[in-house]
Amino acid sequence: MQDWQWQQKQGILYITIPEWSDRGALAAFSARLGGVSNMPFDSLNMGLHVGDEPQHVVENRKRFMQATEGQLEQMVCCQQVHGDKIKLINQSHAGLGARELETAIADTDAMITNVPGIFLTTFYADCIPVYFFDPVRKIVALAHSGWKGTMLRIAEKTMLTMITEFKCRPEDICSFIGPGIKSCCFAIDDNLADKAGHEFASLSDIIRYNNDTHYWDLTATIQQCLLKAGIENNHLNICRLCTCCNADNFYSFRRDHGNTGRMGAVITLLERD
Ligand SMILES: [Zn+2]
Repeated sequence: MQDWQWQQKQGILYITIPEWSDRGALAAFSARLGGVSNMPFDSLNMGLHVGDEPQHVVENRKRFMQATEGQLEQMVCCQQVHGDKIKLINQSHAGLGARELETAIADTDAMITNVPGIFLTTFYADCIPVYFFDPVRKIVALAHSGWKGTMLRIAEKTMLTMITEFKCRPEDICSFIGPGIKSCCFAIDDNLADKAGHEFASLSDIIRYNNDTHYWDLTATIQQCLLKAGIENNHLNICRLCTCCNADNFYSFRRDHGNTGRMGAVITLLERD
């Protein structure tokens, strides 16, 4: 599978997968550049829930949507709670959470749709975005997988919901595991290392021990869960960029001690005439 790439449009920098665009789905992950927010949210903060000026966030979202050829009214956002609830999205949800937090879909961390033009949207500052695209059944999905969501296997559950609800075949599904905190920076305490080691006992090389510290590789954990769920290795595309290591391009909850902005992840089925 062709790899992800950086793209720049109208001063907005984002990661995308050109091959998916050719096959009918646009996936994008924003960097922090090209927006209007002030420190510590400088400058393309996409998150309304972090204490930034709401009108700045809405302007940033408009800019990101314009760069990806969408509109604010097509965004659907959820109130991410690090859980494992998955919502099926239709046209009636268009615009929810785009301009204000209150209308975002409650208690949800993953969304799936078969409606072209709906932009499933989630927000990040270290958690891992997991994108899905079935080019045969024309389905897209997006899952927010931090360590809690990874423990709950939200990416795998999202893929299984695509199979049960939309008759997707595992061999058709493509997935992209995006930027996030990688094993270089994701130090965890002994207690969490025990829990993760126990939950994922059948997986290999997901926790590394170095200088008295455990480091959890969330990306490898998600990758191995998806492979076990039946995704084909050559349909799995992985971005190794660490949000904590790359301060120029990304916000990082851990690096910035919680006081920071959010990147946006979007995926949409392209409308074809
Ligand atoms: Zn790192």
